[in-house]
Amino acid sequence: MLAWTHEPMDYSQVATRVETLNNRFPGLQTGSLGRSLLGKELFTLYFPAHAVPDPHAPLLLLTAAFHGMEWITSTLLLAFAENLCVRLEQGSITLKCPVLMVPCVNPDGVGIQIHGPKAAGRFSHLIYHACGGDTRRWQANARGVDLNHNFDAHWKTLRRMEQKAGIHGPAATQFGGCFPHSEPETRHLVHFCRTHPVGMAAAFHSQGEEIYYQFGDCLPPRSMEIAKRLADASGYTLADPDGLASFGGFKDWFLQEFQRPAFTIEVGKGKNPLPVDDFPGIYQRIEPLCYALLDAC
Ligand SMILES: [Zn+2]
Repeated sequence: MLAWTHEPMDYSQVATRVETLNNRFPGLQTGSLGRSLLGKELFTLYFPAHAVPDPHAPLLLLTAAFHGMEWITSTLLLAFAENLCVRLEQGSITLKCPVLMVPCVNPDGVGIQIHGPKAAGRFSHLIYHACGGDTRRWQANARGVDLNHNFDAHWKTLRRMEQKAGIHGPAATQFGGCFPHSEPETRHLVHFCRTHPVGMAAAFHSQGEEIYYQFGDCLPPRSMEIAKRLADASGYTLADPDGLASFGGFKDWFLQEFQRPAFTIEVGKGKNPLPVDDFPGIYQRIEPLCYALLDAC
């Protein structure tokens, strides 16, 4: 399983991995939420629950790689997908709820971080302008919008904070866009959540070994209890965001819109992008956390 973890997980690697899983496991359904700004698929992996034939049964949504430097989270989610496929095939686990995984929410940003401005195609001039051509710290999408600042969760407050911090337009990180949900990647995720019965959501980021589980006063009844179980499973710490990480994120929007549990999980520890060699150690902590999420749904 670890043979394919020695390179950064870019779009073509995600696509290959999704196809391999699709061919190997007949029960798995692969698809796409839609396309990124540059036309890349936001691949999905859907695991139906055996015990719940009801199409309206709440599903668990697992998402990764919102940020260019955080491609290791795609590797983690795809590795977990494979592990889950194997266990389902062996009959050693029963899914209580359907699971949908989006292993890479920001394929354009990941490509720019790994391959440089040329990966942005017709937007490459914008990338040069935003970061002088050095994309090693690139987090945003191909339009220089930080997707996890683009959700409609106190977006205007966040915009004012960004401006105070000197961020006025497209940037490598922390520019929330011209209006909430301005980006196709954000809109596809929002549309999916509004048109499907998502009971609980988790977003994998790096780094910090921390779990975020609330948004302001918004704390659904089971959130705290589930967050504690995730912390027990992984050894990660429960945390409260501050500063520019406080608003505009996917889990913030999900909590505010649906009043259902949502978590940001900051995997690993060190400086982004975390080296690929950190993968096995991080995976050891994340696999039990993912099974704890499945168990809680
Ligand atoms: Zn992130």
